[in-house]
Amino acid sequence: MTFKDLKLSDKVLAAIDAAGYTTPTPIQAQAIPFALEGRDVVGIAQTGTGKTASFVLPLLNMLEQGRARARMPRSLILEPTRELAAQVAEAFETLGSQHKLTVALLIGGVSFDDQEKKLERGADILIATPGRLLDHFGRGKLLMNAVDYLVIDEADRMLDMGFIPDIERICKLLPPSRQTLFFSATMPPEIQKLTDQFLKNPEQVRV
Ligand code: AMP
Repeated sequence: MTFKDLKLSDKVLAAIDAAGYTTPTPIQAQAIPFALEGRDVVGIAQTGTGKTASFVLPLLNMLEQGRARARMPRSLILEPTRELAAQVAEAFETLGSQHKLTVALLIGGVSFDDQEKKLERGADILIATPGRLLDHFGRGKLLMNAVDYLVIDEADRMLDMGFIPDIERICKLLPPSRQTLFFSATMPPEIQKLTDQFLKNPEQVRV
């Protein structure tokens, strides 16, 4: 199995080459084809399995057409911590080297002003922690209507940190037609309930 077999675009393949990846990891080989088909995916995988690229690569591919309008991000990635959010932003920098897509990072502990400016300029990819995302939404600086792709990463950590009500609130603000890619290391009943409620006939992949 090669990345080329996964039907990724030439631009994405060039970035993978530049990053030095030669072979897809098992989660990438399983999840990427479903993501590119437009399916919702539940990926049960730990950190270290290449899970991040399993959503970053198809997102880059799917966002190639079109561009973001002010305050209307086209994709949203939810992370439980600032550190994880920053790591995902770095992955987009590395793997998005061939794309001119814009990334905005909304995390706590820094001023709202710079983040609002980035939203105003238009973000193809919005990476956020749930609380800060809802703060921006409450300030009226963020519209959710154009979010075609949602990624919920590290869902079981979101549960441990008490973020499930925030996640539910955010899911209800997004267009029902969006595609959702959902990742968790484990599937406790609360997490299963969340996928039952907010994903559409998902494909489950497990590594
Ligand atoms: P993750 O599980 O997403 O935290 O990724 C773990 C590490 O594996 C990161 O440093 C990635 O850059 C790296 N990685 C992801 N996919 C591949 C791949 N297909 N080949 C080699 N390294 C990879």
